[in-house]
Amino acid sequence: MRIIDLRSDTATRPSEAMRRFMAYAPVGDEQIREDPTVNELQETTAALLGKEAALFLPSTTMANQIAFKVLTNPGDEILIEATAHPVHFEAGGLAFHSGLMVHPIEGEHGLFRPEQVEAAIRPDNPHHCRTTCLSIENTHNMGGGTIWPLDLLLAVCRAGKKHGLKLHLDGSRLLNAAVATGIPAGEYAAPFDAVALCFTKGLGAPVGSCLAGSKEIIEEARRYKHLFGGAMRQAGIIAAGALYALRHNVDRLAEDHANAQKLAQGLADIPGIDIDPRHVETNLVFFNVAKTGLTPAEISRRLREEHGVLILPTLGSGRMRAVTHLDINAEDIDIALQAIKKVVIS
Ligand SMILES: *Cc1c(COP(=O)(O)O)cnc(C)c1O
Repeated sequence: MRIIDLRSDTATRPSEAMRRFMAYAPVGDEQIREDPTVNELQETTAALLGKEAALFLPSTTMANQIAFKVLTNPGDEILIEATAHPVHFEAGGLAFHSGLMVHPIEGEHGLFRPEQVEAAIRPDNPHHCRTTCLSIENTHNMGGGTIWPLDLLLAVCRAGKKHGLKLHLDGSRLLNAAVATGIPAGEYAAPFDAVALCFTKGLGAPVGSCLAGSKEIIEEARRYKHLFGGAMRQAGIIAAGALYALRHNVDRLAEDHANAQKLAQGLADIPGIDIDPRHVETNLVFFNVAKTGLTPAEISRRLREEHGVLILPTLGSGRMRAVTHLDINAEDIDIALQAIKKVVIS
């Protein structure tokens, strides 16, 4: 049985060509800045995001956590959407690494308004912690792969800046937003002090992320990369996968979006499944199965055991998430839809 893995866009495996590119990449000791492939990836990413510098890191979790460390002081408060990745899936790192208070903002599909930012900022008063940082996720994962409309993003950033907040962008899937809208990644990244970009999601590289920002911020981030144990040696081997991905796998993200839309429309036709395909803007497909009379765990188990289709339950009652990526084609979507129909209707 062919396995159709829709659990995450992290399921991709490096292609033959990517592996060859990685195997023969020129390398050096990246800790002393002598790995030419790491250096090239950092320069390429900085240029893509319109920033002075970028730093190669083992994961986006580390990129986010280092950004917060650089942009805040212990005891500060960070404004961040309630379902954002650092709040739920980074092992409490905001508290552990940076001593931060989290002020969750209730978003709609992950998006919120400038008034919500202004209302959340605490007055300067010794009773309160200091609100010093605002973090935004684009596309927003738990919101449904939602793209921030550029004018809303800029307005929210302006509201934060007006009050002196530092701005971080969790751009794990920023290139999905850029490809879907045609707006260059650098335009989305412009207002932010720090930007994290992930190479292991839709881009299909096996390892790595970059944090980008001003020279000053990235020098500071380099210190924490060592402190957190993320400084590597001949990391050009893995950086090459990311470089290859930036050269070959960006424009094709549009295929993932088309497949996600096809999946969403097929799901909308299955009785008992709740989904609004208009809210599927990129490659993440969230749907609710509460009305099927089956639990997400039961559906997930039967899809895996009976059909080799992998889809997981997710945060929120009755919810499941399917993700399209480099190793999924349109025919896989047809097969997955048939399998879901069989499980849900029988
Ligand atoms: C996957 C993800 C991360 C973390 O990336 P890792 O490389 O797995 O550490 C951070 N933010 C968002 C929005 C993500 O989807």
